[in-house]
Amino acid sequence: MLTQSIRILSKPFLTNQLRTQNLCLKLKNYFSQYEFSQIEQKWQQKWNQNIQSSHKKISDTNQEKYYVLSQFPYPSGNLHMGHARVYYISDVISRFEKMKGKNVINPMGWDAFGLPAENAAIQRNIEPSEWTYKNIQQMKEQMIKLGVVFDWDLELFTCREDYYKWTQWIFIQLLKNKLAYKKEAEVNWDPIDQTVLANEQVDDQGRSWRSGAKVEKKMLNQWFIKTTEYGKELFQDLSDLEGWPQAVQEMQRGWIGFSEGTQIKFELFSQQQQKCIDEIEVYTTRPDTIYGVTFLALAYDHQLATKFLAGQKEEDLADYEKMKNEIKSRKDLVVNKIGYKVKDYYAVNPLSGEQVPIYLVDYVLKDYGTGAVMGVPAHDDRDQEFAKKYQIPIKEVIKEETDNQSTKQVLVNSGKFSNLEIAEAKKQINEQLIQIGKGHVTSNTSMRDWLVSRQRYWGVPIPVIECPTCGVLPVPEDQLPVILPEKLGNPVQLKNGNPLAHIKDFVECKCHICGNNKAKRETDTLDTFVDSSWYFLRFPDSKNSLQIFDSNLIKYWAPVDLYIGGMEHAILHLLYARFIHKFLHKQQFVPLHKEPFKQLIVQGLVKSKSYRLKQTGQYLYPQEAQKYAEDELDIKIEKMSKSKNNGVNPLEEIEKFGADCLRMTLLFYGPNEKDIAWDGNLQKTLYSYLNKVWNLHLKIQSAYKNDGDLLKKMNKQEKISTFKKVYGYVENIQNALERKDRSFHVAIARQMELYNFLSELQEQSGITQEFSEIYEYLINSLYPFAPHTMSEIAENLYKKEYQFVWPDLLAIKNKHLNEDTISVKINVNNKFKGQLEIESSFMDSQNDEQIIKAINESLKLNISQYKNIIKINRKNAFVINVIQ
Ligand SMILES: [Zn+2]
Repeated sequence: MLTQSIRILSKPFLTNQLRTQNLCLKLKNYFSQYEFSQIEQKWQQKWNQNIQSSHKKISDTNQEKYYVLSQFPYPSGNLHMGHARVYYISDVISRFEKMKGKNVINPMGWDAFGLPAENAAIQRNIEPSEWTYKNIQQMKEQMIKLGVVFDWDLELFTCREDYYKWTQWIFIQLLKNKLAYKKEAEVNWDPIDQTVLANEQVDDQGRSWRSGAKVEKKMLNQWFIKTTEYGKELFQDLSDLEGWPQAVQEMQRGWIGFSEGTQIKFELFSQQQQKCIDEIEVYTTRPDTIYGVTFLALAYDHQLATKFLAGQKEEDLADYEKMKNEIKSRKDLVVNKIGYKVKDYYAVNPLSGEQVPIYLVDYVLKDYGTGAVMGVPAHDDRDQEFAKKYQIPIKEVIKEETDNQSTKQVLVNSGKFSNLEIAEAKKQINEQLIQIGKGHVTSNTSMRDWLVSRQRYWGVPIPVIECPTCGVLPVPEDQLPVILPEKLGNPVQLKNGNPLAHIKDFVECKCHICGNNKAKRETDTLDTFVDSSWYFLRFPDSKNSLQIFDSNLIKYWAPVDLYIGGMEHAILHLLYARFIHKFLHKQQFVPLHKEPFKQLIVQGLVKSKSYRLKQTGQYLYPQEAQKYAEDELDIKIEKMSKSKNNGVNPLEEIEKFGADCLRMTLLFYGPNEKDIAWDGNLQKTLYSYLNKVWNLHLKIQSAYKNDGDLLKKMNKQEKISTFKKVYGYVENIQNALERKDRSFHVAIARQMELYNFLSELQEQSGITQEFSEIYEYLINSLYPFAPHTMSEIAENLYKKEYQFVWPDLLAIKNKHLNEDTISVKINVNNKFKGQLEIESSFMDSQNDEQIIKAINESLKLNISQYKNIIKINRKNAFVINVIQ
């Protein structure tokens, strides 16, 4: 693909030395080179001045809308190449959809709360807010330099009261609907910093990343959101998300782990007491294998464990304790399938009546299902591995049966259920279990509820108080927001446990129910994933102070049509966003849509070469690496990173070749979802291409100057054959852009082909009117990819307020390829319904009845009543819009 499209770039080309004045002057003799830095600055200023108008478009709900969104960043202070790639994808799409006539928003905001700001504040002895806002300002300036245009009038900050008031409001709605609760849970406790750590903050040796202290496990009362309640919908609705990459859907499925199965009761017998003393409930998706059960496996910390262990011999107890310690000391999630056989007790299979032993094991989790499973070693790999280790019998109950035609699986050794096929056996066994009161059909998910408490300062205060008389109460909605104290004091004290607990004015409050003034505020803050779980719903109405958002606006703007972000957010962020969206949908705050993101692009990483000195293991900068022989170095293509000295700063690249060139280069490397290896050379290629397009406009300009409007025209024959080809090029570019994966690299290559065609055309027949028209198609199709340069060209050639419009295929056809007929797009209430081939006089017909009749007949519609018929002729792109 690449070699083919680079044909146009065969002339000798520019190098890094380009920036030296002398060479620039020399080069000017060969061809004019466009002054990207002036041009880009000029257009960036214009674009960012005109942004205020978007309130009108936000509430103009008649037009077809398009909502494109890049995942908002954490304000680290500096944009890297990965950011540039994501924002360029959204900016191209935003401009493209606008050119097609849609009402588009492409907003941006700041995921501004979080731990890194807190840590940076400690290091620098400044307040987290100061650090955060400074970084935001810096990043915003950088984004503008990239040449991306966001709807800054919709900008939001998760750390500002006008936003987190509604994060708190959502939490209270969850609480009211019993989807938020408080429970004791185990946390990683740093005994030196006296604080809780997230799992990612504990290193491989089990030490705190910050203090280096050995991390302890501690039980703390914490807030949870009950995501498991929606397990089934979160799992099943994934299949409706056709615009999502398959891989992300699979990751979500794996994480949610929803299944439908049966809960079965096994009676628990005590050998000593010679009677049934309790029941054990197990969860299984395979009730058809119940006759193959040869043991029960319970989580080692199952609630029955205490009962089993009471009265056991000392050496047995020691075995159990040894196992428990081994499990608890593990750092990772690997299980070794170890178990402890319970003495003096056994369980009874409710259907076969067989007695089976009970094991306390590490491979069943207490919180999953009932914390107990039936062991069927013949038909489950994990059970089999365990059974072999502990010499437990293996009993086969399912067999493959083959007759001439097909293979089927049937039950064997299963009493009256033998010979049944699996599906039928499941059904009948479930019925039998229900009948004898030993089972019921249920579902399960392997996902855990979402722990949202953070013992941190820089986050949303959880809007709850605790009254000595009334207990835990949500803060009344009219008292929101619960304001995060702006300052922690100087020197910034973020250590010693929960920071908010040290601020007396914050903690002490009066109970709104009984008036008790010994009530206390919750001092935990919310996980930042809560902040980002609903921001996309706030953008269209980000300044609303009376409600979370206007439902009518959301009805129009939701869902996000295209969401773009990294693989690191493929599970948790998307899952939480889907959960909160579903909740707000059920509460009827979000009408119509169950899912928040219609289409998803997960962009690949931007990588580059890293150079490591073999002898010392030290990473070198590329310039330093040139001093060494290749066999002294370990050269790899890796994700750009400061620690590997292989980062490339997008803003430095912009200084070399301009923002348009950086954008085209990043998008030309390959498919959006694939990793790319930045090497600096491709940029020169694209820079050369942009210069050639620029120079062509100068030729047209001088042709105009010489002859005014009296340019040559092509003859009819030449015209038809030329525009047939042009139609093909434009169609190819458009198809690439409209594909589900938005194949920008293909679109750019096709544009290069159109450019080549134009060059050849010029050599053959000079600058004709038709040539100039085709050039206009080229710069319009290039506008989303090189907006500064194309804007400047359009202004030079045409007029000041030139409107870029996507080249309409029908218009090309109507103007140049059809003889007596024209093609007309038919819309009903702004929605595209089909296309009519009609006589060109039709558009002038005043008879609306006749128009409706023709539409009904050809498009098999049944329009009887209408308010108005709007006929549009925009540069030969004909549209008839019937308003009902
Ligand atoms: Zn009270």
